[in-house]
Parts: sequence; C-alpha cells; structure tokens
Amino acid sequence: MTEANTNPTEELNPFKIAQKQLDKAAAVLNLDPAIHALLREPLRELHVTLPVKMDDGTTKIFKGFRVQYNDSRGPTKGGLRFHSQETIDTVRALAAWMTWKTAVVDIPLGGGKGGVICNPKEMSMGELERLSRAYIRQVGRIIGLEKDVPAPDVYTNPQIMAWMADEYAFLKGYNEFGVITGKPLEIGGSQGRMDATARGGMYVIREAAKILGLDTNGATMVIQGFGNAGQFAALLGVELLGCKIIAVSDSKGGIYNPDGLDPQAVIDWKRENGSVIGFPGTEQVTNAELLEIPCDILTPSALESQITGANAKRITPKIVAELANGPTTPEADEIFYKNGVYVLPDFLCNAGGVTVSYFEMVQNAYDYYWDVETIHQRLDEKMTSAYHAVHETAEKFQIDMRTAAYVIAVDRVANAIKVRGWV
Ligand code: GLU
Repeated sequence: MTEANTNPTEELNPFKIAQKQLDKAAAVLNLDPAIHALLREPLRELHVTLPVKMDDGTTKIFKGFRVQYNDSRGPTKGGLRFHSQETIDTVRALAAWMTWKTAVVDIPLGGGKGGVICNPKEMSMGELERLSRAYIRQVGRIIGLEKDVPAPDVYTNPQIMAWMADEYAFLKGYNEFGVITGKPLEIGGSQGRMDATARGGMYVIREAAKILGLDTNGATMVIQGFGNAGQFAALLGVELLGCKIIAVSDSKGGIYNPDGLDPQAVIDWKRENGSVIGFPGTEQVTNAELLEIPCDILTPSALESQITGANAKRITPKIVAELANGPTTPEADEIFYKNGVYVLPDFLCNAGGVTVSYFEMVQNAYDYYWDVETIHQRLDEKMTSAYHAVHETAEKFQIDMRTAAYVIAVDRVANAIKVRGWV
C-alpha cells in the first residue's frame, strides 16, 4: 500500500525515518552525542532461516528476524509480524518505536520487534502453526521473561501466540507463559488485551478533543486498515466517543458512506466476504482516496508510510490518530504541523496494546488475574497521563506532538543509560 507516494525524492525506508525522527528530538534535548549514536542503532538482532513442512509435502524455507533495540529500562518488548513485504529495516524501525513506546507510557520495558517474511493469507492453519513453532525453536534462545517478550502484531493473533508459548514451554521443560503476551485467556492471557490498542487510542483522542474543543459526539472518523486495531477503533469510536464512522478500508480497498457505517455489520461482512468491499450502501474508494476524505478524525491503522510529502497537503482532518506504527513520514509531519493538523503520534496513540501486555506480564508473574474494569481503569490512567505529558511538552518547547513524545521517551531512555554507566 505505497500507492499514496509519488515523490521520488522522499526517503521511505522506515528505519531511516525512525533515525531522522530521533535526530530531531536529540537536537531539542541537546542529547549527549554518544547516547544519540547508541540510540540510532539496535543493540542486538538475530536473523533466522526456518524450514517449514507445507501441506503439499514440500519444505519451504522462510526468513525471520528478531531485533532487540534497547533494554536499558527493562526487557525488550514488542510484537511479531507475518508479512510478505517484511524487511530487516522495517523490523528495526518498529523495534526502535517500541523503545519509545514503552518509555512514553513509562512501563519498565525496552523495545524489540520480530518479523517473518511470509504470506499468511495463503497459508493453512497447520502451516502457520509449524511456522510459529519453527520461529520459536530458533528465536527461543534469545527471548525470555527477563530478556525479550514477543506479542501479536500485523497478521499474528492469540492462537499464534499460544503455539509459540507452547513451543517455548517444551524448550524450557516447563510452562513460562509470561514470555509471550497477547495469549488466549486459557493460558494466561489478560482480560482487555484484544481491544487494548484501539481502546488506548480512544482515550488519547478523548483527551485531545478536550484540549482542541472538539465534541467527539457525532464527529466523523475515517479508518484506514481493518485488522485488530482498525476494527476495534470502529467499534470503540462509536461506543466510547460517539463518533460517526464514515469510511473504512482493508488491504483490498475501502468503503465510504457519509451517513455513517454500522461497525459490527462491516466486521461481519468482512468475515463472510474476505474484505470490507461490497458492503451494502457504500461507495468504493481506494486506500489513497480514503485518506483524503474530509473528516474530523483520521485513524491510520494499517502499515507504514501511508501519509507522505505527496499526499499530506490534501489530508486535512482535525486529528490524525495513528494506531498504525509509522504511517506518517517526516515530510508529511512538517506539512501537518504547518497546516494545523493535530497528530497523535503512533508510539503514544497505539501504546495501549503494549500497556495491557505489560499488565499481562505482571498478572502472569503473580499468577493472579484482574477483572476487565481494573484493566480499563489502569490503561486509562496510563494513556491519559502520557497524553497530557506529551501535550505539555509540545507547548513548552513549541514543537509538534511527535517530537514532544520523542523528547519525553528519549530523555527517559537516556537517563537509564547514564545511570547504568553505559555512556
Ligand atoms: N504489536 C503491538 C505494538 O506495536 C503490541 C506490542 C506488545 O504488546 O508487546 O505496540
């Protein structure tokens, strides 16, 4: 989905983008040059080659990665993606963003990420299970409760986490469920983890709307991406904020109805038909067109680099709430800042997922489980205070919200590095 960009000069490598964003915050913070250099690179990464028996009797060889970006504040933490376009630089960028994400919501974890180059849409359940187990047989040696804790991300889900936790239990010789989060409830998953990314985002939008004087009741919302984050954003956008969802899309394209969509009906339609496309009473739009539909709140919930220097000037919502990781490039950020589009940056806006993952780790450690109201309340506290800290930092330094989020996160990581004596 890179159709949005037509500017040949713009850098779209996500890792280069992550480094550029860091550089901007380092200048505001007057960051120690050695700490800056350290934070521009991952501490460790593992590249693995995975033989997997396919249903037709052949063996296919897959490439996978796990990047442990920085663990100065705690074990590295972050999801695992199954995607045909996965690259090591994408995983590096995502691992860097996890480092800033755990720091901005102030949970005692570092940042990591994993990926496997594969097309899960073309694989059977059996093939996905064998791939998941093969990944843990290789990566199992570097993950661990105190080392690195994977979770779901694009095209991975609780079932995949369950197979991975099970394979890890065989490697160890006993169950160690806290090594993976986003698990099913039956084996130590947490209440409230499924919708946590979107729910956390809605809490942040709610707080931003108060500051901006925007009444979310009846406000129009457009959602790009209709996976876990996008589907729950649609449901909770209506339930928690009273928004009207006027357009949604998935990898095949989008649907638009200015009178509003019933999110549950669209979810059911996608489950039955494989895509949101064709949902009755809607106009079909491309993913690029969807981003430009006039609305109050645009919620990118798909992949990186969707909003670029080429299309940002035509994208004019009041709020861009980034549930995806890395949807907006630095060129687009500058245009938004100039045009007064208020950005809720990814590693703040989508931190709800990892926050409830952290709650899951805590519950696993104590073997004592919280009810869903407790999860929601603690998530709300974390997201609300992180949002206001970022907003105040943006005001204080007169900088954009992304750079403000970086200033807080990088400062926390830098202080951990200093106090540990690394630099
Ligand atoms: N994959 C999610 C993210 O990008 C969640 C990570 C986690 O729970 O560790 O934030």
